[in-house]
Amino acid sequence: MSTNPNGKPDGAGLPEHPADDLMVAAEGVHKSFGRLEVLKGIDLQVRRGEVMCVVGPSGSGKSTFLRCINHLEKITAGRLWVNGRLMGYREQGGRLYELHDKQVAAQRRDIGMVFQSFNLFPHMSVMGNIIEAPVQVKRESRAQARARALELLERVGLADKAESYPRQLSGGQQQRVAIARALAMRPELMLFDEPTSALDPELVGEVLEVMKDLAREGMTMVVVTHEMGFAREVGDSLVFMDGGVVVESGDPRQVLGDPKHERTRAFLSKVL
Ligand code: ADP
Ligand code: MG
Repeated sequence: MSTNPNGKPDGAGLPEHPADDLMVAAEGVHKSFGRLEVLKGIDLQVRRGEVMCVVGPSGSGKSTFLRCINHLEKITAGRLWVNGRLMGYREQGGRLYELHDKQVAAQRRDIGMVFQSFNLFPHMSVMGNIIEAPVQVKRESRAQARARALELLERVGLADKAESYPRQLSGGQQQRVAIARALAMRPELMLFDEPTSALDPELVGEVLEVMKDLAREGMTMVVVTHEMGFAREVGDSLVFMDGGVVVESGDPRQVLGDPKHERTRAFLSKVL
């Protein structure tokens, strides 16, 4: 029997698809590394076009949750849908359903991820970095990929840096290239894991501006960040995670201005 939940006919007893307007739907998502339980039942939904900001103390499971969405980690219990597709789930005590490798690859093609540490290929020019995946993975022609890369560089304000190498760029410029590189795959969802945490303070703004533009254009984004100003201004929703659970979520202005939980209040008093 197939272990693929998405290939099954309707009525096979598998969890129903979430509504079409949801990009991410998590129901009781758990993730353990050996005996360490990092995610302890995450429930949340990200609508298409929504910008969700995720905040919380170090070690609360924010990166792990992003990595589950992108299938860099497999959940150990619960159900997680991304872009209408069930990424794998396990009923209490039941068997684990998961995607085949090909489906995982297809799924990840639609998700862009930007890390704290930029992760550009150091031996490739900016142009090389941006066209690598479109050419190798999507089989776009080099000419087509280059034209698109130039458009994207224009968009992130780096049209003159196409032939530079990462080491010749500031952190803020490298991160903007990383965003352009992710966008080159035409993702439907962008995940940002503390994209400005490694930057000198004066370089944070230029990266946030690019992210703001993306949000304005309607990109669906999940952004782990400590930039509360960005969360307040750009976020449609704010999630506060602590100890592997969602403690509180809602309108960013409400959560930041009038947190309901003591743990949220204690955290915010340290970062605001
Ligand atoms: P955050 O991003 O909120 O700081 P993380 O998701 O990075 O939190 O980590 C949450 C916990 O999971 C930490 O205790 C971390 O050490 C642990 N963890 C993360 N990845 C792994 C892994 N691959 N193996 C074992 N433990 C991990
Ligand atoms: Mg993290």
